[in-house]
Amino acid sequence: MHSDPLEDIGTLADHPRYDTDLAARAAACTDRSGYMPDSPPDAVLRCHTVEEVRAALRLAHAEGISVVPRGAGTGLAAGSSATAGQVVVDVSAMNQILHIDDVEMLAVVQPGVLNAEVNAAVADAGLFYAPDPASTAICSIGGNIATNAGGMWCAKYGVTRESVLSLLVALPDGGLVRTGRNTIKGVTGYDLNALFIGSEGTLGIVVEATLRLRPKPARTETAAAYFADVEAAGRAASAITAARIQPSILELIDGPTLEAIDLATGTAHRAQGGAFLLAQTDGYGAHLELEEIIRAIAPYTTTVHRATDELEAQALVQARRDAIPSLEQLGRVSIGDIAVPRNRLAEAFTGLERIAERTGVRIFSVAHAADGNLHPMIVVEPDESITTGPAKVALGEMFHLARDLGGTLTGEHGVGLLKREWVREELGDTSLELQQRIKQAFDPRGILNPGKAL
Ligand SMILES: Cc1cc2nc3c(=O)[nH]c(=O)nc-3n(C[C@H](O)[C@H](O)[C@H](O)COP(=O)(O)OP(=O)(O)OC[C@H]3O[C@@H](n4cnc5c(N)ncnc54)[C@H](O)[C@@H]3O)c2cc1C
Repeated sequence: MHSDPLEDIGTLADHPRYDTDLAARAAACTDRSGYMPDSPPDAVLRCHTVEEVRAALRLAHAEGISVVPRGAGTGLAAGSSATAGQVVVDVSAMNQILHIDDVEMLAVVQPGVLNAEVNAAVADAGLFYAPDPASTAICSIGGNIATNAGGMWCAKYGVTRESVLSLLVALPDGGLVRTGRNTIKGVTGYDLNALFIGSEGTLGIVVEATLRLRPKPARTETAAAYFADVEAAGRAASAITAARIQPSILELIDGPTLEAIDLATGTAHRAQGGAFLLAQTDGYGAHLELEEIIRAIAPYTTTVHRATDELEAQALVQARRDAIPSLEQLGRVSIGDIAVPRNRLAEAFTGLERIAERTGVRIFSVAHAADGNLHPMIVVEPDESITTGPAKVALGEMFHLARDLGGTLTGEHGVGLLKREWVREELGDTSLELQQRIKQAFDPRGILNPGKAL
């Protein structure tokens, strides 16, 4: 009788994908957070099939070896960071789109498919996948699910959790579970789908996902407004929310970031104002909604540009896309991720300015303004640490600012290793201990991504 060769492997080190090459281990030891462990992981297993992932987990579970799941390694919280004594299970090679159903409007994909590849594959069917991190071209769907990633379109369409119908997950002991369902509605049992989404690879490894697609909007309308300062721009963003209008994109950029964009790209945004707000509406009523937005922000703006064609619209959106690459030309960038109630955006921006003054750390801020999600970006010299010294102090102060405004430590990047010391403060003892018991139920031996998230 034929037996599965993976069933017969005795130890994790005998797994056919077990790779101890130093270059592979060094490449898999961290992400894009700036965090660097003291030593690389023991091995990397670049798995190609569900069965290979399951065998790796089964063996690691039996031997009590820590496993760190890894997608494309673009995370900003050191969630996929791995060190000595750990092995990395890298699923980036599981990168096939398995099925597109343009009637049910869903796509079944493997976890290593890149975010942008989903959109490229479904565009001809008049569909799109809404969660669009700025890293769309380089991050994987598995990583997006593990971090509950967001992006610009989340203003209207919600974050990853609102766009994943079901998952196939390899459990820490090598078992397999299917969560959710391929229907839009469904409430049988607990919502394990929602539990896995945002769990940062601590409960299981996503090996397949069914994504919810949406009809591509019939039209879009775009405008950008300038303000004397970022506080006025924050108030304008809150006024849009208060006016009950639903933009599909609402992005805010502060003055220092505008200067960096101008320096890097040759544009002249800063000369037009001390802050910039990009608004896009979509659907058949897009032009009417944009007019309402312009009316709502009129008391706060100095200038408004309304794009008259697609090229102009793209140029306005490009300013936001240029923010991170422009800052990367100034030094090492650590991208923060606090979120506050939307009516407190202006206070959050001024609070960040004060933190920069107090700590002497350079902070540049942009925000997904419709979600109250700010990305304060700390820029240090190339050889300076972002996980110790003044940068670390500024990170802690940012969290306290968010908490004092009724907000949260992380809007979409996750806790990983970087923000773990503030988790108890935000969740409180009871919630944290309940969550630790959930982790224990899924992973009694504590082998999966230990030390992350909770
Ligand atoms: C320039 C830049 C811009 C960015 N912009 C955004 C943005 O706009 N919005 C946003 O949300 N994020 C953004 N990010 C952060 C990052 O791209 C996201 O967090 C992304 O979801 C990570 O995906 P990944 O495949 O790179 O995951 P990785 O970095 O490999 O892993 C991230 C986490 O997911 C876990 N994981 C990975 N794959 C799996 C799997 N298959 N099963 C279980 N766990 C898994 C890992 O263990 C880790 O905890 C940006 C990053 C960069 C560098």
